[in-house]
Amino acid sequence: MITYEIPDPFATFVRNRNINCVGSTYDYFSKEWSFKCSTCSEVMFAPSKKTIIKTRLYHTRNICLGGY
Ligand SMILES: [Zn+2]
Repeated sequence: MITYEIPDPFATFVRNRNINCVGSTYDYFSKEWSFKCSTCSEVMFAPSKKTIIKTRLYHTRNICLGGY
């Protein structure tokens, strides 16, 4: 018998990816990257895209997901 109640790992992966990809924008006037967290609405700033990605990942994992 086939059951559809098992959670789809791929769907979970896509959802987690989207958490990390949305909301990052570049401010051309201040030359800074900003990111507004879609979960807790906290706004973060960083001087480069590399830094905002690190900041964003750290925030999502340690603050929003409680150390997941
Ligand atoms: Zn957050």
